[in-house]
Amino acid sequence: AQERYASIRDVDCVSADGVRISLQMNAGLMADLPSLDSSGAEGVGLFRTELQFLIRNQMPRRNELVSIYSRVIDAAQGKRVVFRTLDIGSDKVLPYMKPQDEPNPALGWRAIRVGLDKPGVLRMQLQALIRAAKGRPLTVMFPFIAQYSEFRDARAEMDKALARELKLGHATPQSVEIGAMLETPSLAYASQTFFEEVEFLSIGGNDLKQFFFAADRENERVRRRYDTLNVSFLTFLQDIVQRCEKTTTKLSFCGEDAGRPIEALCLAAIGITTLSMRPASIGPVKSLLMRTDLSAVRAVIDAARARGDQSVRQAVKDHLSQEG
Ligand code: PEP
Ligand code: MG
Repeated sequence: AQERYASIRDVDCVSADGVRISLQMNAGLMADLPSLDSSGAEGVGLFRTELQFLIRNQMPRRNELVSIYSRVIDAAQGKRVVFRTLDIGSDKVLPYMKPQDEPNPALGWRAIRVGLDKPGVLRMQLQALIRAAKGRPLTVMFPFIAQYSEFRDARAEMDKALARELKLGHATPQSVEIGAMLETPSLAYASQTFFEEVEFLSIGGNDLKQFFFAADRENERVRRRYDTLNVSFLTFLQDIVQRCEKTTTKLSFCGEDAGRPIEALCLAAIGITTLSMRPASIGPVKSLLMRTDLSAVRAVIDAARARGDQSVRQAVKDHLSQEG
């Protein structure tokens, strides 16, 4: 299928009205890395590090992680890789960790909450990332940050890890960029100071949507009930875009919706111009973005909202079929 899009693989993604959109890929295993070239992704916008933990039957050792992460950075050949620290709990349970008996795992002890309460694994992981990146840029993103203090505490772990490496006389990365995933509505309303401090934000639409609509992403009965292009959700995303514009905080979107062409188009039209998706989605998303005028889509979204449509999907589809 990627052959179909080979002709646009190596060209920058620019919409018909001249908006530059950065298309990145999601990854998690070494086997994903060759797709960086074959898909034309500009970088890895989300590297889900938990996959390396999930495919084993025991906790990986630090040196194994150093070797994996440095091979990932090698394979990226200078393209940016956003390493997301361990995101476990809820739908991702490590076979070698005691399962938590929680009534609502999605709202429970997961991701950065585990990382901060039991920092041993987070510290090992940060140290491994620092060692793997020595002399090269390192980008780290913390999952499931729900409030400013969690970001501050997680970043303090990174600062401590860097100081420790320096004290040991080890080489450190050329630069370190630290961001957070925005996956709970609370973070969209964090203080301005948070938005100023965080170097970038990536919207985890899969989780953000389930919490916005209170609809379990794992529950088939309710999963598809609320459209991503629902006016409430789009308006919420636009609020996030505005907050980020005010503080010039870099913003991207890395949930599954980024890889669905109509969703990707609407995200770009409301100003989210860095999208990270599975590699196979890059061709179809790029093809649609390149032949579409985003300001016209923006006008269609605004008109649908003004009319009282619940979702803008039909209006955008109609617009695209008129355009041919
Ligand atoms: C998300 O929640 O949108 C996301 C990208 O993270 P994950 O799907 O791994 O929870
Ligand atoms: Mg998530």
